[in-house]
Amino acid sequence: MKRISSKRERAMLAFMLTALVAATLYSMFLYQHTAVEHIRKDTYAALGAETAQEKSAFLTALDWQYRSLETVAAGLSEESGETVEVTLERLRLLADETDYVRIYLAYPDGTSRAEGGATINIADRLYFAQSLAGMRGLEAVVSRIDNEPHFIISVPVLSGDAVAYVLYAAYSREAFAGMLRAVEKYKGRETLILSADGERILGGEDMFKGNLFTDLEGSMDEEDLADLRAVFERGGVGIATYTLYAHETYLAYAPLGVNGWMICTAAPAASVNEEIVQTVKSGYLLIVSILIISAAFVLLFAFVVRQNSKRLLEDQARLNESDARYRMAIENTDVAIWDYDPIRRAIAIDERSRKLVGLDSNTIENAPEALIASGFVHPDSADDLRELHAKLAAGEKAAEGVFLIRAKDDSGWRYEHMRYTNLFDEKGNAYLAIGMGEDVTAEYAEKRRLDELSLAAQSDSMTGLLNHDATFNHIKRFLRAEGATGMHALFMIDIDDFKSVNDTLGHQHGDTAIKQIAIVIRQTFRATDIVGRVGGDEFMVLMKNAPDMNFVERKARELLEAMRIPCDADGACSLVSASAGVALYRGDGRPFEQIYAEADGALYRAKSAGKDRFAIGARQ
Ligand code: GH3
Ligand code: MG
Repeated sequence: MKRISSKRERAMLAFMLTALVAATLYSMFLYQHTAVEHIRKDTYAALGAETAQEKSAFLTALDWQYRSLETVAAGLSEESGETVEVTLERLRLLADETDYVRIYLAYPDGTSRAEGGATINIADRLYFAQSLAGMRGLEAVVSRIDNEPHFIISVPVLSGDAVAYVLYAAYSREAFAGMLRAVEKYKGRETLILSADGERILGGEDMFKGNLFTDLEGSMDEEDLADLRAVFERGGVGIATYTLYAHETYLAYAPLGVNGWMICTAAPAASVNEEIVQTVKSGYLLIVSILIISAAFVLLFAFVVRQNSKRLLEDQARLNESDARYRMAIENTDVAIWDYDPIRRAIAIDERSRKLVGLDSNTIENAPEALIASGFVHPDSADDLRELHAKLAAGEKAAEGVFLIRAKDDSGWRYEHMRYTNLFDEKGNAYLAIGMGEDVTAEYAEKRRLDELSLAAQSDSMTGLLNHDATFNHIKRFLRAEGATGMHALFMIDIDDFKSVNDTLGHQHGDTAIKQIAIVIRQTFRATDIVGRVGGDEFMVLMKNAPDMNFVERKARELLEAMRIPCDADGACSLVSASAGVALYRGDGRPFEQIYAEADGALYRAKSAGKDRFAIGARQ
């Protein structure tokens, strides 16, 4: 039993821990999913916003360069050809000091003078065509002068409405790149400019060879690449993710608005993911901590449960032992034992006890009524048994009594001493009474016989009151044992002129009168007072514990008043009266005889004073 339950416990524990781990893994998964999604969205938004900022910063810087060039162009348009060359030379000298911008002038036919007097023709250049058409021009070129890559911006120099020259400035790659801001939120992040077909215009030298799309062929899904090309073609805004040369990259793009170029922000996924990884890591750490704490709680809980069940098992074992001990002890006696359910009013009794008591069944519903109705209980005991069960139902701790029940052989009746102990639940309600029964016929019948005998020996046969000797004995015993405290009054009562009652109505009527008078005296005093007939028409009462003198007097008057009863129930009556003498005892140690003599003396005085009255104490 023990082994099975501990096995079950272990299985429960394993199940709980497994559930805990499963719940943790699931929350990790959920957490990662939502956290990654969340951060990725944030990252996309941040990259997109950065690209837009880069674009406007770049365009502002470029515009500034154009404006400077246009200021020079405005000055040139008012000068003659010769002076233009001179002015330009001066400007060039100025630019030389900065070393990253060169300014040149081209004639409408494309000829332009480079440093050192060489003449080149730029008629085929895009920027030249743009400015010749009166617009701002921009192009990334390889210089025909020094073979270096340059960025050229150009503006028209107007003479009237016609374009007289094209003024252009060449920027080194580095100088041009300076117009791009370099905010580095993510490590390795870079701003680049690509042409609509993926050709590098500026930046991204470490990322791809010359054309991003060409490089991506093979490493990006064909369809995705086609989509990306299409988006670039139409100058869309968005973010692409690709892995190139083992580097995963986020690329946010937007149209620059010049030459169909796209401005892009490229960030290595590793540095973007770094944030995700950190967040996920701390999330995991939190979840794992929760798991550890929860597991600790589960183990602690299991430990406590285990300890408790261990204690319970031990208690149970002890209980079983003592139960067995009691059962053994009881089984070797003639004591019957049973349960009484005070709520269902049902008795449950085991076989041994059932036989001992002499019941027909092991369960009795509707007890004790069913027992009474079946004749198992003697009618004289019926009310007492009902009362006993009512006490149990009312929640008394214990109740007992001796009841007459049917003898086992149905030969007659026997006395059964029944004792009940109530058991209470935690709310204090009685839920079960343990009953014990013992056949006490032998002792009980004997006791009753003795009681009856001694009672008969002590009582006056005519009135049922104590007889002369019993009265004296009881009073003496009381005064000895309890007389020392309180005030006690000894009454001597004698019927007045009783001889004449006998004489006029006959002796029989006299007897009836004595019986009635006895009842009156008994009723006048308390049940605990000692009342006896000590002579023919003489009675003695010890009124115990009288509160004061007034009370004694009142009682004496009450007694004499009650005494005036018709002597005959038939109506042929004459009123009787009585006289009383009272002696008071206040624990003064006087012997009974003396008190008696005092009461007798007082009675004598009452009689002498005319009867139908009482006197108290010794004559002073
Ligand atoms: P007193 O007022 O002085 O007491 O007058 P009394 O007639 O009552 O005289 P006393 O008490 O001395 O006598 C009691 C009488 O009561 C004597 C007897 O005739 C009568 N008597 C005593 N015992 C019994 C009895 O058991 N039955 C009847 N019928 N009369 C009794
Ligand atoms: Mg008398």
